[in-house]
Amino acid sequence: MELNWSRCVIYQQDPSEPLKCPLQSRDPSDKTGVYASFLNNVEQFRVVDAVPVELLFGNNETVENYVSHSAAWHKSCHLKFSSSKLAKAKKRTHKHDT
Ligand SMILES: [Zn+2]
Repeated sequence: MELNWSRCVIYQQDPSEPLKCPLQSRDPSDKTGVYASFLNNVEQFRVVDAVPVELLFGNNETVENYVSHSAAWHKSCHLKFSSSKLAKAKKRTHKHDT
């Protein structure tokens, strides 16, 4: 399936919630940083096999591509990939060791 960039890149359903694009963030120095940390978190969620939602983009997704498409997401979707959620997911997988 092709990613529809005019929709939420995380969960491509019809939004009842307004989309947020980090490129419109007030701090212009943080434009790519938000994408970079999101993609980094996605990668780590994949490593621990705990991706919270099925994603339509692969491991080769780049920050540049996100910027060129002005990738947007819902705040609630983005939150699922936050660093604190990642930390919890990592903790959970550590229990598998036994
Ligand atoms: Zn969404």
